Amino acid sequence: MTEYDVAVIGSGPGGYVAAIRCAQLGMKTAIIEKYSTLGGTCLNVGCIPSKAMLDSSHHYEDAIKHFQEHGIEIPGEIKVNLKQMISRKQGVVDMTTKGIQFLMDKNKIDVYEGVGSFKDATHIDIALSDGKKETIAAKNTIIATGSKPSTLPFITLDKERVITSTEALELKEIPKHMIVIGGGVIGLELGQVYKRLGSEVTVIEYMDRIIPTMDAGLSKELMKSMKKQKVKFNLSHKVKSVERKGDEVIVKADDKKGKEITFTGDYCLVSVGRRPYTDGLNVEAAGVEMDDRGKIVVNEHLQTNIPNIYAVGDVIRGAMLAHKAEEEGTLVAEIIAGQKPHIDYNLIPGVVYTWPEVAAVGKTEEELKEAGITYKVGQFPMRALGRARASMDVDGFVKILADASTDEILGVHMIGARCADLISEAVTAMEFRASAEDVARMSHAHPTYSEAVKEAALAATEDRALHV
Ligand code: FAD
Ligand code: NAD
Repeated sequence: MTEYDVAVIGSGPGGYVAAIRCAQLGMKTAIIEKYSTLGGTCLNVGCIPSKAMLDSSHHYEDAIKHFQEHGIEIPGEIKVNLKQMISRKQGVVDMTTKGIQFLMDKNKIDVYEGVGSFKDATHIDIALSDGKKETIAAKNTIIATGSKPSTLPFITLDKERVITSTEALELKEIPKHMIVIGGGVIGLELGQVYKRLGSEVTVIEYMDRIIPTMDAGLSKELMKSMKKQKVKFNLSHKVKSVERKGDEVIVKADDKKGKEITFTGDYCLVSVGRRPYTDGLNVEAAGVEMDDRGKIVVNEHLQTNIPNIYAVGDVIRGAMLAHKAEEEGTLVAEIIAGQKPHIDYNLIPGVVYTWPEVAAVGKTEEELKEAGITYKVGQFPMRALGRARASMDVDGFVKILADASTDEILGVHMIGARCADLISEAVTAMEFRASAEDVARMSHAHPTYSEAVKEAALAATEDRALHV
């Protein structure tokens, strides 16, 4: 039986990063992945393919809506070739997942393709994909088995017309009318893809705003932008049935007054969150504790109740984000190696890759109010930037929340072009506990979208933004 210092179960961003860091720290490491490609949800059916589809559909939208204004004329009709779009997306996925295989080889990590399940706290049975079985011994195990789409109890996901994000990345035709249940990240990103490609898109959201966990100002501005793109929104609606009839899907929901509303489409994307995934893992055999929502329970060192078993990523508490999983993978590897790493969860940014992009870090206004912290607000509109006008991407703003007495930045919330990249400046500033004035006094290249960060910081410092 092969013995390892560390066995990692699951090869998503939590698992593969943990494995690399363990190997870097000199530990003999194995990674077990049930699918034939590495990279987990993120690389195969999540972050990477969804961004590939967002980019392709964005190019198409630009071509049909904006090229003429830029003075670019394309003779003949511009058409979508969905098959080619999806095949390009798959090419990106394949290249990226092969890259992870390369990294495993480079770091001398043994890869087992098969389903891992605990035999006991130090042994893992692997049902290999070639039908054979193997058991390995591991001094430490990192559970990184991720998540799967969740659904509502009355919905039958037929995966043809009543679908999750996984199928939405593989459709054979452009829906005529896509009904999206859940106005969160997946619903809005993939809803926008199909809206751009020509579908009618109707979002049904249970809460009274979209992206309800983000700052309310962002919800409002994103909805305004997406309404301009003709996405339809139904907030405060409680879906109560989803029925497939031939090629039609009929969704019934109660609005906030209790009136039943019927939506008829040809596809329904169910994007109401994801659930931790531990099927087949047999954690009971190792005595690992789970909570009532199926998450593996961990302490601040991401250690389970069994001292040599750790867990990271979507399978534990916290935001279901690839970069959060990666930080946790690194943290656990370093803890096993005897180091004392730390993650500041408050500084893990959240991004929605719609256009305009939405990005945030730190506390929202709602959270600061609830905590009774007095704060100042500096907000700057993108449309006041020369760069935004040059690119014709004028929607959005940057909002900086700073402590009223110390001026320390407590939260940054932005929506607009390239915000997914801009948010890093806010993370860096907050990591070093910058004040709004610190950022206001830093030079920002002109003309760039980053000038909105400086201007919002100026506005927060002394209400002295320069360009409004
Ligand atoms: P996962 O990536 O889910 O990987 C878990 C792996 O474990 C899987 O490969 C699974 O097959 C394997 N596994 C499970 N059980 C076993 C077992 N018993 N034996 C062997 N292998 C097993 N996050 C972002 O930060 N940015 C984004 O832009 C973004 N976009 C997304 C878009 C979509 C459509 C979706 C669905 C998700 C997106 N996410 C995004 C979320 C992100 O994908 C997850 O947060 C991230 O993948 C979690 O990483 P993980 O390592 O915890 O688990
Ligand atoms: P989500 O939690 O972002 O959004 C789910 C939405 O569905 C919420 O707005 C919620 O209020 C709504 N909802 C819940 N029950 C409902 C009901 N019965 N009827 C109508 N609406 C209902 O979840 P998601 O969009 O499915 O994404 C899952 C996870 O994947 C998220 O945690 C997210 O972090 C991750 N993800 C991240 C990115 C990114 O970082 N850009 C992209 C995609 C997915």
